[in-house]
Amino acid sequence: MKILILNSGSSSIKFQLIDMPSENVIGKGLIEKIGLKDASITVKNAADKKEVIKLNIPNHAKGIEFLLSIITDEKLNIISSLDEISAVGHRIVHGGQAFSKSVMINDDVMHGIEACVELAPLHNPANIKGVEAMELAIPGIPQVAVFDTAFHHSIPEHRAIYALPIEFYKKYGLRKYGFHGTSHQYVSLRAKEIYGDDRTENVITCHLGNGGSLAAIKNGESIETSMGFSPTDGLMMGTRCGSIDPGAIPFIADHEDLDMYGVSTLINKKSGLLGISGISSDYRDVSLAAEKGNEDAELALKMFHYDVKKYIGTYIAALGGIDTIIFTGGIGENSALARREILKGLDGLGIKINHDKNDATMGVEADISHDDAKVRVAVIPTNEEVMIARDTFNIVNQ
Ligand code: ADP
Repeated sequence: MKILILNSGSSSIKFQLIDMPSENVIGKGLIEKIGLKDASITVKNAADKKEVIKLNIPNHAKGIEFLLSIITDEKLNIISSLDEISAVGHRIVHGGQAFSKSVMINDDVMHGIEACVELAPLHNPANIKGVEAMELAIPGIPQVAVFDTAFHHSIPEHRAIYALPIEFYKKYGLRKYGFHGTSHQYVSLRAKEIYGDDRTENVITCHLGNGGSLAAIKNGESIETSMGFSPTDGLMMGTRCGSIDPGAIPFIADHEDLDMYGVSTLINKKSGLLGISGISSDYRDVSLAAEKGNEDAELALKMFHYDVKKYIGTYIAALGGIDTIIFTGGIGENSALARREILKGLDGLGIKINHDKNDATMGVEADISHDDAKVRVAVIPTNEEVMIARDTFNIVNQ
């Protein structure tokens, strides 16, 4: 059964066509700059043969229409007819309190996703456009919603609610939701396959990319995560400040004469690695600058590494122990420096890496723990698309 996976953003759509249950990727690519001058569609087939087409893509519906004609074109030999696509799985960023697992999309579900727009005003509207575009292109095709927030529904209330007056939670659903759920779930399931149940009772997953979050996972369930009501909370990230003293916000607004929009831009777009280094939001760029002796870049890296370490410590306490730590996301998968610095000095907790293995690991699955260490440390490249394909496959076949 072939399943189309869509991750629709405001001006882009990433897609993969996955054969299930084999999980083989038979096509993938990206629609870029929808509504802009130089829009394009890039498609790769299973043999990595690539086609890039530049054309006018005024909206998501046109983008999907073009995409479907490219993947059925005989040049790339991906599929020969749209009838071969059995279902569509969508990444939906926010499922609010309503959605604790993936669901088949119907009118009620669409209303539910729309109701979450105020919680994710940048993401959910784009996700909705993706669903509507697919319904236009192949009317009646089964579509499944897979939520970034769903995996964290198991976080108990006392860890999720902010100590604001309780009516804010009751009136607005103002609470921790957490994000990157599909990624945290995928790598923790993969760790279970690799290490077995005994060594994965208590797991910490570190998803470190441009955005980053950690999750504490007990027997496969998320019990705590570092992003909160919004993705700004938790770790210092590429351009987000992460957790800061809430008392600083009115101070900044007052002194810089910023309204809430200005404050939001500051904490989401101008802070983090970029804000501290003054160089870039990109971990690689910042580490290159630090290597050349730039002190602000060095400070930014130190702050980032410490932040992740601090959450690891907190989550060991929340879990009551630790069996396995997993690194994923662009930084987690590729940077030996980040992994080394984050885990430095944790030998007393049974966390010790093998430096040769760590240095040799970039973008591939590997155990990088020291042979004598009590705790397993693994690098596991994330695969959110496969997770979405699995849920879609299971729901369509129920
Ligand atoms: P996103 O959150 O946008 O999906 P990614 O997961 O792709 O981001 O991660 C992007 C981050 O990964 C960037 O900060 C980038 O510098 C970092 N990164 C990618 N490759 C490497 C590498 N080889 N070494 C260090 N950092 C890397």
